[in-house]
Amino acid sequence: MNITTLLHERIAAGDIRIDVRKSRGWSPWHQHGLVDHDVTVVTPGDKEAFLWTVKRFREAHCHYALVGGGTSTSKPPTADVQIETKCLDTLFIDDAALELVVGAGVTVDAAEAFVAEKGWTLGQWLGSGATATIGGSIVTNAMGILAGRYGNLRDAATSIEIVDASGNAAWVSAREVFETAGPTMLTVRLPLWLSPNGRALARFAGVGSPFTAIRQIVTARLQPAHLSVVQGGTVTVIAEGETHLETARYQLIAAILQKHGGQPEQLLDQTAHWETMLSNNPWTQNSGGGYWADRITVAAEWGSYSSVLDHWTHHATSTGATLTWRAVNPTVTGFTFVFDVAVPAVSDEPEWITDARSG
Ligand SMILES: Cc1cc2nc3c(=O)[nH]c(=O)nc-3n(C[C@H](O)[C@H](O)[C@H](O)COP(=O)(O)OP(=O)(O)OC[C@H]3O[C@@H](n4cnc5c(N)ncnc54)[C@H](O)[C@@H]3O)c2cc1C
Repeated sequence: MNITTLLHERIAAGDIRIDVRKSRGWSPWHQHGLVDHDVTVVTPGDKEAFLWTVKRFREAHCHYALVGGGTSTSKPPTADVQIETKCLDTLFIDDAALELVVGAGVTVDAAEAFVAEKGWTLGQWLGSGATATIGGSIVTNAMGILAGRYGNLRDAATSIEIVDASGNAAWVSAREVFETAGPTMLTVRLPLWLSPNGRALARFAGVGSPFTAIRQIVTARLQPAHLSVVQGGTVTVIAEGETHLETARYQLIAAILQKHGGQPEQLLDQTAHWETMLSNNPWTQNSGGGYWADRITVAAEWGSYSSVLDHWTHHATSTGATLTWRAVNPTVTGFTFVFDVAVPAVSDEPEWITDARSG
């Protein structure tokens, strides 16, 4: 069938472009099933031209396939004619319904970026999100890293605009769409969720072996903005950055800490936490006189950190000093101890500390 002849009046009007390309296979991402043959790619300029094209192909019994981002990893039906969906680019928020109305040809990341500007999220974070479209992702039942929390796009869609049997656009329920074989989707309605706060602080008490737990976290390359252990064993985590990726990272960190017996502190007062962090420094004790106090940082490796801790604890105990410690900034090789040392009845740094510092 000659596609140029079939679509000639709209090609001439400039509403539709056609392009014959060598197809390297059913997906540019895949090396399997390579077929090197000519494919006619039809690119309608807008939704109306898209509908017109679909109608014309159906009337002419011309077999065609739709192409979104072309990232599908399952083999779509083969066709020598492909219609690109990128003209299906509707994008607005229905404030009353709290839904995004999004064209099937919009990429998943573009939809997320659009709603993020208004403080919302769809909760859809796919590895292929920069290229994969809403339509293609619904057809392939794709799911992102936060699907456990938000569901996937197919679960989320409330209603979908399709091309009906007579070739017109019609809104139907998502369930009806999935009961229809090979529906052509034009627009989708997706619920909006409030985007989580960009910075989150959490504390886990009762972690059985906090050093093992934080070592596992950093070895798994789950490096949050802040991860520390205080003397009592409580672990503090601060997730900060791109909200959804941080949420996913935080969930994995929380899972590790919970496996070690940690319980998240439910009623954590974030403001009070920061105020305590800022005001709690050892030097305040120096102002009263008759005291020597300092904060000392000591690098420790995973293989020998307990001897570092024993060394400092032993000296502190035998000299009547008080020693409070935190372990911060863990990496795959080690971490840093922060020792707050306070020695009564002296005003200069004790010798054992000077030696330990220089050693
Ligand atoms: C690098 C990479 C990373 C990936 N990451 C993930 C991931 O994190 N999670 C995951 O689940 N998958 C992932 N995938 C798989 C793939 O991205 C998904 O299946 C994807 O969402 C498909 O979308 P698409 O727009 O590329 O679809 P396409 O490949 O263009 O099309 C897929 C199918 O949908 C049909 N279709 C497209 N648009 C419409 C429409 N408007 N109406 C009706 N039918 C239509 C096509 O005809 C085809 O049958 C990844 C793939 C790659 C290559």
